[in-house]
Amino acid sequence: MTSYAEFHQRSLTDRDAFWGEQAQLVDWKVPPQQICDYSNPPFAKWFVGGTTNLCHNAVDRHLASRSDQAALIFVSTETNQEKVFSFKELHAEVQRMAAVLKDLGVQKGDRVLIYMPMIPEAAFAMLACTRIGAIHSVVFGGFASGSLASRIEDAEPKVVVSADAGSRGSKPVPYKPLLDEALRLSKYKPEAVLLVDRGLSPMDLVAGRDHLWAALRDKHLDTVVDCEWVDATHPSYTLYTSGTTGKPKGVQRDTGGYCVALAASMKYIYAGNPGETYFSTSDIGWVVGHSYIIYGPLISGMATIMYEGLPTRPDGGIWWSLVEKYKVTVMFSAPTAVRVLKKQDPALLTKYDLSSLRALFLAGEPLDEPTAQWISAGLGKPIIDNYWQTETGWPILSLCNGVEEAVTKFGSPGKAVYGYDVKLLDDQTGEELTAPNQKGVIAVEGPLPPGCMQTVWRDDERFVNTYWKSVPGRLIYSTFDWGIRDPDGYFFILGRTDDVINVAGHRLGTREIEESIAAHPNIAEVAVVGVADQLKGQVAMAFAVLKNPDLVTDDASAKALEAEVFKMVDRDLGAVARPARVRFVSVLPKTRSGKCLRRAIVAVCEGRDPGDLTTMDDPAALQQIKDLVTA
Ligand code: AMP
Repeated sequence: MTSYAEFHQRSLTDRDAFWGEQAQLVDWKVPPQQICDYSNPPFAKWFVGGTTNLCHNAVDRHLASRSDQAALIFVSTETNQEKVFSFKELHAEVQRMAAVLKDLGVQKGDRVLIYMPMIPEAAFAMLACTRIGAIHSVVFGGFASGSLASRIEDAEPKVVVSADAGSRGSKPVPYKPLLDEALRLSKYKPEAVLLVDRGLSPMDLVAGRDHLWAALRDKHLDTVVDCEWVDATHPSYTLYTSGTTGKPKGVQRDTGGYCVALAASMKYIYAGNPGETYFSTSDIGWVVGHSYIIYGPLISGMATIMYEGLPTRPDGGIWWSLVEKYKVTVMFSAPTAVRVLKKQDPALLTKYDLSSLRALFLAGEPLDEPTAQWISAGLGKPIIDNYWQTETGWPILSLCNGVEEAVTKFGSPGKAVYGYDVKLLDDQTGEELTAPNQKGVIAVEGPLPPGCMQTVWRDDERFVNTYWKSVPGRLIYSTFDWGIRDPDGYFFILGRTDDVINVAGHRLGTREIEESIAAHPNIAEVAVVGVADQLKGQVAMAFAVLKNPDLVTDDASAKALEAEVFKMVDRDLGAVARPARVRFVSVLPKTRSGKCLRRAIVAVCEGRDPGDLTTMDDPAALQQIKDLVTA
């Protein structure tokens, strides 16, 4: 048997042979002629000359062997619905959706923006897009009009697919008014809006633009829509993610590379088998939802659970009851969710028969050791932390137990995954750190493996400048995460090097939040930082300087202004981005050259020593923050 070290080594030194073998895990209409074209770094083209289709690999190719087997298991504890779609039924629904999108004018290469709750139609829409070669762009349902409008403007979708409402804690969360407002704000106007009416919230339809899914679906009950065979390099989707500027980046993914990368990851990392059930508790609005609710499990012939609801309703045992009922073998969640469950009755962890479950994978934010220990002991199952990003689409660091069983080290997401040539770089000199236990920036030598982002949508320059230029004179992909590597090759993640924060596993750019807050008429300047939080990992804290301080004279007026700011952020970005507190100060701590000392603010908020402050302009500024947070 090959050791993991050899497997990883071969993926780098014999790259084309390695990935050529992995390409056989999926179906091709025309097999690839060249495995990797890296003649124009850092742009990697994978499986050049090959034609394939993601939807074919996720759905159609299983029809011959498992058409009656469950494919999509929809469970909503919000609306008390539960429905299982076999591969045959999923195939039919996806074709209906594809036919409707075509009727609405969608063609190969057109974008379709999907702004939906966790309902089966969202999965049909994603698969229908890739079926016909359209490019989907899913926007998380928790985002509000401002965020949605900027994504609509950037993606320029022909059609938007949405719904009347989502639901949280059995209360409808209307989507349509947010969408209408986003369409009003957006300079670009899509031709059509396709709406799923769940009967949760009344909708006003705009004549000529808005269409109801149920009515159009009925016209296509038996319509056959064949898969459009596209080049391996044809974009399958874009997914927006926050960075250090206010403008989110459209991470663009290819088709063939993504399909192969997911198929291989299902075998070597998640170790799921056809006919089994996969349960990822994420949301289709995030990359985990794309890769491991929809495409990954289906490509490997597994049933996938799509869960709408909270982890604690009707009680904290709901997920484990689903594991028992659907014999889940592989489960994927986020550390925040586990920390939420920690507050529930621990007996719920052992109430159900979890004998089918082989492992629980956690990703999206640092997994602290106590949380890992707690869930591991409670479930009696291996807990596998894996580290990756929207940009990569699948893990950079993990244990690859499908290749060789490896020991878990709590607090570490494991070793470099095959295909990734992971380096640690000195942040000052860019030099590679090869000795163990040194702190550096985690970087990846190009080409990035299959499945990783091709570019930033319509902005190759931004792709190169943002990710590949951190070391002068050298092209190397930066993750913007600090890390160390121990003598056994296990990495430990030490947080971001930039101003991106991670709240309950959701990635937020502090710039975006600052821009929203700064639009308030009485706010002159604001700094938003991420501060450690026991439950959510991090929370956003805002410190604002007022234009007219006379308007905030006491606690009550400060609270009132804080509430106004919350409302603005909710409206622009959504409640996910709302800071935990907005504090008002007379001045922000800055260097003499005017750079805001965010790290010092974070340290003070977390009760740590802010370090060397010799470059600080006005020491009283930091003292003011200290007084506020310790009051
Ligand atoms: P996103 O693109 O939203 O998935 O966020 C990616 C970022 O989340 C990474 O750059 C890390 O900062 C963080 N992250 C993801 N997974 C992990 C993990 N397993 N451990 C620590 N941080 C993680």
